[in-house]
Amino acid sequence: MDKRACNIMDMLSERGYKKTPQREAIIMGFINSEKPLMTARELYKKVIKSSPNTNFSTVYRNLELLIREGIVNKMDMGGEASLYELKDEEGHHHYLICKGCGMVKETDYCPFKNMDIESEGFMPLDHRFEVYGLCRDCVKCHKDKYMANRGKL
Ligand SMILES: [Zn+2]
Ligand SMILES: [Zn+2]
Repeated sequence: MDKRACNIMDMLSERGYKKTPQREAIIMGFINSEKPLMTARELYKKVIKSSPNTNFSTVYRNLELLIREGIVNKMDMGGEASLYELKDEEGHHHYLICKGCGMVKETDYCPFKNMDIESEGFMPLDHRFEVYGLCRDCVKCHKDKYMANRGKL
């Protein structure tokens, strides 16, 4: 098994969760994915390749557990299917997400770095930042459709 997957499985078992093949397949699905963000359906397709008897609700339940345990991030996409990512061990990324084709681009920019949160008397545990828009290709064909809503940013 992949070293990173191993570490995650060990951490889960220390917290009292069983090492199930499905759980392992889910974590490997993230690690082997070429896309940093996936919908639950996309992840499910990867999981059944290595663990064919898994059903979708098992994947979904495990995702909820991994979110609670701080291992996976969930991004709410409004009316569309939510996106999931495995949190990075070293540092983190933020994303630019295309509403036209679903393309996801990582950015090193982090607005949090410029924020003086301590003076607010608040201890941060986690933060999220995503920008939704149109990629270079989609801006050509979808611009008019989305321009009307732009003011709501
Ligand atoms: Zn696009
Ligand atoms: Zn950040």
